[in-house]
Amino acid sequence: MPTVCPTPIRPLVFVLLSILFVNCSDPRPQYNTLEDYPVYPYGDLGVAYRPAGSTFKLWSPAAQDARLRLYASDDPAAEPDEVIDLERKNGAWTATVAGDIDGTYYTFQIKMNGRWLPEATDIYATAVGTNGMRGQVVNILDTDPPGWADDRRPPFTAPTDAVIYEMHVRDFSSDPGSGITHKGKFLGLTERGTTTPAGDTTGLDYLVKLGVTHVHLLPSFDFVSVDEADTDTEQYNWGYDPQNYNVPEGSYSTDPADGKVRIREFKQMVQALHRAGIRVVMDVVYNHTGRTENSNFQLLVPDYFYRFNPDGTFSNASACGNEVASERPMVRKFIRESLEYWVDEYHVDGFRFDLMGIHDIATMNEVSASLHGIDSTILLYGEGWTAGDSPLPDSVRALKANTARLTRIAAFSDDMRDGLKGSVFEVEERGFVSGARNRAESVKFGIVGAVPHPQIAYDSVNYSRAPWARQPAQCVNYASCHDNHTLWDRLAISNAGDAPAAREQMQRLALATVLTSQGIPFLHAGTEMLRSKDGDENSYQSGDAVNAIRWDGQRRHPQTAAYVRDLIALRKAHPAFRLGSTDRIARHLTFIPTGDGQLIAYRITDAPGDQWSDIFVVLNGAAERRSVKLPEGQWRQVVDGERVVPTGITSAPESGNLAAAPRSANVLVRIAER
Ligand code: CA
Repeated sequence: MPTVCPTPIRPLVFVLLSILFVNCSDPRPQYNTLEDYPVYPYGDLGVAYRPAGSTFKLWSPAAQDARLRLYASDDPAAEPDEVIDLERKNGAWTATVAGDIDGTYYTFQIKMNGRWLPEATDIYATAVGTNGMRGQVVNILDTDPPGWADDRRPPFTAPTDAVIYEMHVRDFSSDPGSGITHKGKFLGLTERGTTTPAGDTTGLDYLVKLGVTHVHLLPSFDFVSVDEADTDTEQYNWGYDPQNYNVPEGSYSTDPADGKVRIREFKQMVQALHRAGIRVVMDVVYNHTGRTENSNFQLLVPDYFYRFNPDGTFSNASACGNEVASERPMVRKFIRESLEYWVDEYHVDGFRFDLMGIHDIATMNEVSASLHGIDSTILLYGEGWTAGDSPLPDSVRALKANTARLTRIAAFSDDMRDGLKGSVFEVEERGFVSGARNRAESVKFGIVGAVPHPQIAYDSVNYSRAPWARQPAQCVNYASCHDNHTLWDRLAISNAGDAPAAREQMQRLALATVLTSQGIPFLHAGTEMLRSKDGDENSYQSGDAVNAIRWDGQRRHPQTAAYVRDLIALRKAHPAFRLGSTDRIARHLTFIPTGDGQLIAYRITDAPGDQWSDIFVVLNGAAERRSVKLPEGQWRQVVDGERVVPTGITSAPESGNLAAAPRSANVLVRIAER
């Protein structure tokens, strides 16, 4: 833990005089540790714009002095028009600038240990200029697109009703064949009626057709790695290098210099998705900052926002050079207020927490309580792991194993992901869909949404020796995401000897398993079109040619594209696949022992609210046809390995034995007896 050098103690007489005669100013403080910093209790840090005058507030208790610089331009070479000394008052450094300064850029600067640090962008800035190097005072009312006041979140209640589609703003439209005008921009998600040259639906209309309920956007707050001053040159980054948390990324806007433009265009994107019936989840990265020694946090409140090793170096659970100390009161407050801001100002509907295992449980629960107080349908989930060791004990961090202690927050199930296809760290390894004989229990664990179920042998699950979710709404089931190989690329490596048609069967089996399982299904964008990144397993800066969603994929792989679309519709039509509670899953979902590590069978009976009172699911991971004895009665098959037909794939009812095709998902419905 670094020490904060105390400021020199003033003579007692001077302190007394200060208290007597300058009672509106705080005395010059000294602190022995960061924990001694007083908490600022109000919600007004940053800048409050008013036409008559704007008030600036900076929290930095140990600073000896602080300044505000005002600029007419966001040009880094421009000199400030004004440098204003901030006054220490009521726990913050503050100044009010008279007159209408709408559009003025600004920075803060503090003095520590007798030295002025470089100027920095207000961590609470809600608008910035090019590359986020200066904050901007804006009249936020100017940023509302027409109709914004009437924007409403699409109807949504239970988390397990969600079907999440994870994508990168740029990837969605950058394909030359996307037919989208605003390629790589927030506005690319607002365009309707777009098609490929061959006439296939793309963009927002495609999402509507696919039927997903939530679009999950990779980092869309302001990040460091793309030069916003040079957007004519192709640049690419996923954006896991946060810079300004409360501002949209400039390179996704049509004008990064004018702070209002990116704000308005982000709102237009949310509005267009909402009008299309789709909710918006933001990937948020509060666990680390893109820069370390010269981040805005570090330049304005040195050391406070980070964790440190015993030797005084920055600890690094993010593997990106630092980790944020979420457990400190003012860091927790910052994260909470930032999330509240995205919900209130931008109408964002949910958040995915990058490396959530770095955050402390108390912070996550406070965030959940606050956001669900604003809107009870906000969806929260995260990665219940870290990328390195943290000095904060495991017991207090939001790790997957601690998910049951989180309130209304879900974690990604790597048990399911790797159970289906093999470990992401062992690329040759196979999973249930690709030929492994020992992964059925991990997949069953995913089928029940990682909750307690009497028929799971937890000692045979790949990673978890116990259920970690209290409810299925705490488990995000997936087969792949932006990280690691795409599912299609992975299968090409682990199953190089299999024909493409066989691998396509595996892909369909994996996606069908995710979409019929309890828990929250999550799809990597384009996986239904067999998205490939040409084998690139870490494409965070690989460019459009690798990362773009290639919209002609739906024409090249029509069967799988239709299969996934129809499975989404099936899930939405049948509550049996989203029973929603641990009790219901235990009561209504029964596994049928198969004695075969490549064959899973289960039955969902009398699911509340479902027209289908008896459903039989058979997942065959083997490369051969498998015969499975059907339960008593007449059955209609509605899903096989190739298609989804709710009225029945064949007209004749099935009874006796089901012949499950190689690498196939099968869903059968019992025909009611008269
Ligand atoms: Ca940026």
